[in-house]
Amino acid sequence: MTDIKNRHIAIIGAARSGLAAARLLKRHGADVFVSDASEIQSAVKSKLDQEQIPWEENHHSERARNVNMAVISPGVPDNAPIMEFYAQVGIPVFSELEAASWFNKSPIIAVTGSNGKTTVTSWMAHTWKTANRPCLLAGNIGRAFSDMVDNTLPGTTAILEVSSFQLDHIRSFRPDVSVILNITPDHLDRYNQDFDLYAGSKLRITKNQQAEDIFIYNFDDPVLTEKVETVRERDIHPRLMAVSVNKEVPQGAFVRDDQIIFKINDSEEILMNKSEVGLPGKHNLNNSLATALAARVSEIKNDAIRESLRSFEGVEHRLEPVRLLDGVRYINDSKATNINAVWFALDSFDLPIVLILGGRDKGNDYTGLKDQILEKVHTIIAIGEARGSIKDQLGEIVPNYLEADSLKEAVRLSRTKAKRGEIVLLSPACASFDMFDNYEHRGNVFKEAVMEL
Ligand code: ADP
Repeated sequence: MTDIKNRHIAIIGAARSGLAAARLLKRHGADVFVSDASEIQSAVKSKLDQEQIPWEENHHSERARNVNMAVISPGVPDNAPIMEFYAQVGIPVFSELEAASWFNKSPIIAVTGSNGKTTVTSWMAHTWKTANRPCLLAGNIGRAFSDMVDNTLPGTTAILEVSSFQLDHIRSFRPDVSVILNITPDHLDRYNQDFDLYAGSKLRITKNQQAEDIFIYNFDDPVLTEKVETVRERDIHPRLMAVSVNKEVPQGAFVRDDQIIFKINDSEEILMNKSEVGLPGKHNLNNSLATALAARVSEIKNDAIRESLRSFEGVEHRLEPVRLLDGVRYINDSKATNINAVWFALDSFDLPIVLILGGRDKGNDYTGLKDQILEKVHTIIAIGEARGSIKDQLGEIVPNYLEADSLKEAVRLSRTKAKRGEIVLLSPACASFDMFDNYEHRGNVFKEAVMEL
């Protein structure tokens, strides 16, 4: 373990994970100093004061530079001046996830991917609960691992949702089971628009894994199946297992004749019929396979896995059913902030759809949705800053293209367009910050507007 006693450690970035790392490292005897290039939220400042952790805001002073190591928040890009300084003078930089893992005593299951992380980690926690097995859920999902790691025990599984930013600065982080759900373009602004760099950072989840560890990947993702070869070629590498909804896998979990099957050490076990899985859509079937396989290799009984796959109700703001009104189903998928997530949302329904799209555009290519839209979307209602690009790229291909100035207005309009037996789907493909605080806020406004109809 990295010795941190009395070491000078700068914590760069004072949001949730920075605060958690500062507290943890201080608890374990380090001399920490929190430094943020922007203003720190007053709630965080008072917590730092309460715990007698020194801090500065709006700049990085000499004190933040003159350290033995730094722990950085996921929001700090590699080209930030302070990061360039650390690189130049050779000060080691670690992510909060790495720092937390120095104190870990639990077996770790770490899940990354472009989409589905929260769904899968929550589904895993539900499975552990169903099986009466202790676990803790942390990481990107809300509670930083640093806040939870002092509760880890050998008999408690740590289920971690991990972003690529947190993997960029790991050194010894080693999951017993790693999972990569998919790799599709997102956050490319942080990777010089270089998809290979972004994909590479996700693969780093396997970097320290040894032969007795397991790496689960999505066999249906062409980027991943190509990239995993670099893992397989390593002298020491984890055992590779795959999941697929389309084809049989060499080892792992797949679907044959509608049955979910585990194939482990060349022997097959039938788990259940895929129609019994609680969440809709092919992507969720894939998510269920990843969840089930991670549970199976963690020696959870198939009965509990089956029960969990049936009973999981999903996570708020991800294809969340809101209301059935006049025969129309209203669905909140506010967390769909990229094209791939919207594609799978549309793929989940075989009914005519009124689609509410838009928000802050991240340079989206909406034409990636064309096949799904031509098949089932009769009305697009565009909101937010992205309206212009949505109109240019999709305006001509739907019978009705409409725009609204607010989400509330979009919901009211959707009611006039949707007929009995149809679906109104908020699946925006965009960030929310042009009109809302975050995607949760957007989803809540949608739900309120639907309930007011
Ligand atoms: P993440 O934590 O990776 O952002 P979430 O579980 O919060 O993922 O889901 C984000 C969005 O992606 C939601 O709209 C959800 O319906 C969709 N989604 C979930 N799983 C997948 C998947 N395996 N592939 C594509 N989209 C997915």
